[in-house]
Amino acid sequence: MASKLIFVTGGVLSSIGKGITASSIGTLLESRGLKVTIQKLDPYLNVDAGTMNPYQHGEVYVTEDGAETDLDLGHYERFTSATMKRINNVTSGQIYQEIIQKERKGEFLGGTVQVIPHVTNLIKEKIRQLMSTDVDAVIVEVGGTVGDIEGLPFLEAIRQLGAEVGRSNAIYIHVTYVPYVKAAGELKTKPTQHSVKELRAIGIQPDIIVCRAERSIPSAVKKKIALFANLKEHEVVTAKDLPTIYEVPLVLQKERLDELIIEKLQIPTNKEADLTQWKEVVNRIKKPTEGSVRIAIVGKYVELPDAYKSIIESFVHAGAANNVKVEIKWVNAEDLTTTPAEELLSDVHGVLVPGGFGERGIEGKIEAVRFARERKIPFFGICLGMQCAVIEFARNVAGLKGANSAEFDRDTPYPVIDLMEEQKGIEEKGGTMRLGAYPCVLKEGTFSFKAYGRKEISERHRHRYEFNNAFRETLEKAGLVIAGTSPDGKLVEVVEIKEHPWFVAVQYHPEFKSKPMNPHPLFVDFVKAAKAIRDSREVAS
Ligand code: GLN
Repeated sequence: MASKLIFVTGGVLSSIGKGITASSIGTLLESRGLKVTIQKLDPYLNVDAGTMNPYQHGEVYVTEDGAETDLDLGHYERFTSATMKRINNVTSGQIYQEIIQKERKGEFLGGTVQVIPHVTNLIKEKIRQLMSTDVDAVIVEVGGTVGDIEGLPFLEAIRQLGAEVGRSNAIYIHVTYVPYVKAAGELKTKPTQHSVKELRAIGIQPDIIVCRAERSIPSAVKKKIALFANLKEHEVVTAKDLPTIYEVPLVLQKERLDELIIEKLQIPTNKEADLTQWKEVVNRIKKPTEGSVRIAIVGKYVELPDAYKSIIESFVHAGAANNVKVEIKWVNAEDLTTTPAEELLSDVHGVLVPGGFGERGIEGKIEAVRFARERKIPFFGICLGMQCAVIEFARNVAGLKGANSAEFDRDTPYPVIDLMEEQKGIEEKGGTMRLGAYPCVLKEGTFSFKAYGRKEISERHRHRYEFNNAFRETLEKAGLVIAGTSPDGKLVEVVEIKEHPWFVAVQYHPEFKSKPMNPHPLFVDFVKAAKAIRDSREVAS
């Protein structure tokens, strides 16, 4: 059987959880034994998300093969077992870049190059690249909302593709928002009506409407939406707000969304969806039996949690694994340069310094490391957080006064973090960092080895700077543990310190690989260490 296509579009407004809906459809189909993959079509003109500021776009999610993608791909991997690759995120920027390169080479043989058919053909080709005999369904999420000018070529392409593969091989699911207007005491269907109208004007008749709403949508309201959209009542599905995103597949299953999809696409499966394990995790997320731990994330985008999406989700998974709720205390790194760490961090059971770029907030992050190291509070450093841990250790333990990363201070006497050899001479910004999965070998007896339970691991990277080997001996002599390196021993990927409850700093991004059912071992052990500190403080007081 060739892959079936499930197109997911959005209406009314953005951020209504289209990505979670697409992911949950993946979960549901997988739970019926089907093989799925998910693709995101992003209408913006950036070639990828890599050059975008987190304020604009939230986290940049890195795939195994080193693509810098939209954060929705993180949800796709967390909700399904599909491995995301470069082809799973297609942007207008990529499409136009490819077309213009071809045009310059003269490959259009003198023809006029146009949105239809050239742009739409290439979009269709990108979707077809994921269709194969070993994938039962390709879920394609179109970014933005119906009605956006820049999204038109994508909608036109999915309209054409649906017609090409035929009725029972493609369906259109439209995700909309049904607001509750307090003053009227009513759920309002008008915005949904308008967005369906907009979709129809482009030539797409939705097969299913998923209504996001604060509360359950009563039958009468569903009927009204169905009437305007040419659908039956059961083809209008509610997805109301939930305490955790991981509950969405369960609720959509109750609304029989998977049954509907399978029926419409005539997918031969008689297997019932089995979500037993998924339910167990959701239960532990919602009702952890062992209280909560408080963990500080010391970063510079603290008012914008989307910038740290995968880290937040990793804590949800690790919390469930430890049967605790992880409360995140957002600490603005810059505040640590004006307010004593004692005041900002003494109530937390763990400190995490995440990745980042640029000088702002650096001294505050280094101060957070010092506090966690000296006060023996579990510490987890990720990417820039690892680099800050090395700088702190160099300055305050190894006595290298003024040590810094060459990224922030070109004239530092001790550049303990320096530009990677392979990065020297690179001028272009997009897609040029050290990106994607690389192997790493851990040292036995370390916190990391204990967490992973094995020596050889593979993790994803996104950086230009690295531990400077010129200082390796000095720092090791002062007590820094080099707990993980590249297999040839040349690149330092993990550092730790001893005589501490838990202090691990990694050059890579473990958060990209954590899943609800397969929580990342470093996050699990970090939360476990935080829990132990919490308990020991309770005994002491
Ligand atoms: N700015 C640092 C580097 O490029 C860290 C990058 C990161 O944290 N992702 O090496």
